[in-house]
Amino acid sequence: MHRLFYPSQYVPSIFDINISELERRGIKGIIFDLDNTIIERGAPEFTADVVQWLNALKERGFKIAIVSNNRTRTAERMAEEAGIPAVFNAVKPRRTPFKAALSMMGTKPRETAVVGDQVFTDVVGGNRLGMFTILTVPMKGKEFIGTTLITRQLERLFMPRIRRRVGLSRRPGRD
Ligand SMILES: [Mg+2]
Repeated sequence: MHRLFYPSQYVPSIFDINISELERRGIKGIIFDLDNTIIERGAPEFTADVVQWLNALKERGFKIAIVSNNRTRTAERMAEEAGIPAVFNAVKPRRTPFKAALSMMGTKPRETAVVGDQVFTDVVGGNRLGMFTILTVPMKGKEFIGTTLITRQLERLFMPRIRRRVGLSRRPGRD
């Protein structure tokens, strides 16, 4: 299996991201996918624990941005309200939207992590630019029909290999 399909890490949720480890690796910016990574697709608001976690990252000194293939008004409003710079209608895994996020954050690819729930968009996109990629188990929101039919089926073929090679890492203290 091609190296572009392997994330650097695989975690149950964004809350399992190990902040100290990212700092040790020299990561200064984090690009988040939106749907089913930091919000259940279709939900109107971020949950309080997500907002708290994103704020904790900012307070710790990380720049954050959202890169999403979504382009709804709701998504735009949510990013605005949370004060997070965002690139919508991104057509991941194309490099252009990730590069736009890098310039919004002022970070280089080597100092940037990409966090998302899909191998073919988030992980491949981040890996193409040499960023640190973190695959999350998808949240339970409804999925875009195209995602369910094709992408998830394909992912199913890859997941056993990702689990074997990368493993699922939980943050200590979380169950
Ligand atoms: Mg997603």
